[in-house]
Amino acid sequence: MNVYQIAYVSPEVVPFAKTGGLADVAGALPPALAKLGNAVKVFMPLYGAVDTDTHDIKSLKTGIAFDIAGKTQHFDLYYHRDDSSGCDYYFIKIDEYFDRVGLYVSPETGRDWEDNDERFIAFSNAILKAIKELEFKPDIIHCNDWQSGLIPAFLKNSNDNSGYFEQAKTVLTIHNIAYQGLFPEESFAKLGLDSKLFFPTSDFEYYGKVNFLKAGIQFADMITTVSEKYAKEIQALEEYGCGLEGILRDRAENLFGVVNGIDYEIWNPATDTLIKANYKPEKPANKKKNKNTLRRVNKLPMVRKDIPLIGIISRLCDQKGFDLIAEAAEQIFELDLQVVVLGTGDEKYETMLKDLTDKYPKKLAVNLKFDNELAHLIEAGSDMFLMPSRYEPCGLNQLFSLKYGTVPIVRETGGLADTIENCNPARGTGTGFIFKNYDSNELLNTIRFAIEVYKNKSVWESLMQNGMSQDFSWDKSAARYLEIYHKAIVKETVST
Ligand code: ADP
Repeated sequence: MNVYQIAYVSPEVVPFAKTGGLADVAGALPPALAKLGNAVKVFMPLYGAVDTDTHDIKSLKTGIAFDIAGKTQHFDLYYHRDDSSGCDYYFIKIDEYFDRVGLYVSPETGRDWEDNDERFIAFSNAILKAIKELEFKPDIIHCNDWQSGLIPAFLKNSNDNSGYFEQAKTVLTIHNIAYQGLFPEESFAKLGLDSKLFFPTSDFEYYGKVNFLKAGIQFADMITTVSEKYAKEIQALEEYGCGLEGILRDRAENLFGVVNGIDYEIWNPATDTLIKANYKPEKPANKKKNKNTLRRVNKLPMVRKDIPLIGIISRLCDQKGFDLIAEAAEQIFELDLQVVVLGTGDEKYETMLKDLTDKYPKKLAVNLKFDNELAHLIEAGSDMFLMPSRYEPCGLNQLFSLKYGTVPIVRETGGLADTIENCNPARGTGTGFIFKNYDSNELLNTIRFAIEVYKNKSVWESLMQNGMSQDFSWDKSAARYLEIYHKAIVKETVST
């Protein structure tokens, strides 16, 4: 297997800063690549929320100057070496842009920071500068989402970078194409590129705006997304491609779906220190203790032990299917079940969930916060895990759920379709419950069916066992990324 020098760029990385699944991926894939013998340097912003003391992050170099659009700016480079992961971590410190609470969104207004264009233009430029300062010669610069989508564009369009990065190939991974980094046309001048590059339908332009993700898609040597099904969906339909389906089809030859793995060092009920009681597939009885604790801390009545408990951990947004839950709520809460929700996001869904708790206090508990410890307890303590997503690029919680013997109920989309096999109770096969259409009746009927199956303890046990025996570790997916890096470098064809 070939090994490479890799610069891995992400706006969020576990354990330093996280808003969603991208951080989990950026926390786990680089170590998996390092394990395969690659030299991996990870780059991210030094947000105010990153705890430099806990993570032993030290200043490496201060006052590094870089020019954007004729303006000289400065950043400090911070560093952390993690021998256990085998990776070097570098942090771009520009206090004016990153020393604030909220990674992309202002917690006060609930809206994107108004200077997100400048923040991530500076971030992308500073990374190229940092790589040079480190005298690092990457074979691959692996970018993630719109926040680093400009890096391939800068490399292909700016003379400053042509020499040093001659051998570097770029890979852009799209974790969610609904988030594109769209800014008013005046933002283009801030990029410091030739103004002739911005015109209707150009690589940077999207209906009169500057689109950072589109630029990344146009200029990256390879594009990946986080499941094979989502790779097809985003090319096929506007509903999924969010307007970029055409340019993705144009780049189909260099677009690949690679399903995310999960980090079993963190998400493993046998070793998880954040749950009440550890358990293994061969002896899952302790799962019940987690269920009891979860119900107790959520103040759900304990009158009956065998009532099925459904967990939800999610950003509260249109993508995740909360409108379906709202539509079917009355019938769902007539069923013999209890539900625990953990999530933050759109006010309309927070209000909706609060209203439902007032109506069904014995059946529904809602935690409107970001709480990693509770997330682990929900995975361990629930019988079922609900993800009725409108679309789901990969989804991680269904993969955590499989490992914890918590049977997923999912809609057949993106990574959910690729990772969950529909249950056949008669044969004892499958790992979860799948419904096809984005329809509240289908959701309701599938929950009903799951509750019926739950009553048959031996069938349920086999469903849990099937899930717990699945392997979604990073090894396979990391090897697949290496094939794609190889293709970028030698321009060979890999199997799709
Ligand atoms: P997305 O990236 O679309 O938000 P994923 O399923 O890919 O969805 O990943 C979400 C990640 O964020 C998971 O690790 C999940 O456990 C975590 N998460 C989401 N909301 C919360 C929350 N309120 N508290 C703790 N963890 C959360």
